Amino acid sequence: MSGKFELVQHFRIESARYLPFLPESHPCRSVHGHSFKISLRLQGQLNPKIGWMIDYNEISQRLQPLLKQIDHRLLNEVQGLENPTSENLAHWFFVKAQKILPEIVQVIVAETPDTECKYPVI
Ligand SMILES: [Zn+2]
Repeated sequence: MSGKFELVQHFRIESARYLPFLPESHPCRSVHGHSFKISLRLQGQLNPKIGWMIDYNEISQRLQPLLKQIDHRLLNEVQGLENPTSENLAHWFFVKAQKILPEIVQVIVAETPDTECKYPVI
């Protein structure tokens, strides 16, 4: 079978943050927590022998060290996330995750069930 496929896998982390550049009156200026959902879109060809692109389990295992850096952490203390907006988190995660899995084409960060931030836009 030829042609590209796309896989999507979701991960969940619990993290604290504050957004230091907001006015004092904004609620996100104070330390607060989110149950972030981080979704990864991966594109590629099938492994013809197995009939899948890549094992979901392998995706998960390879990303664990990266997820550990931000799960149950104050994101502002993570290098490169001093201003941890969802936009900056999506960019930070994409750059690092793509070095681990080049098939990743987009990272989607949902800080609530009703919002999503995608990077890059494709
Ligand atoms: Zn927030």
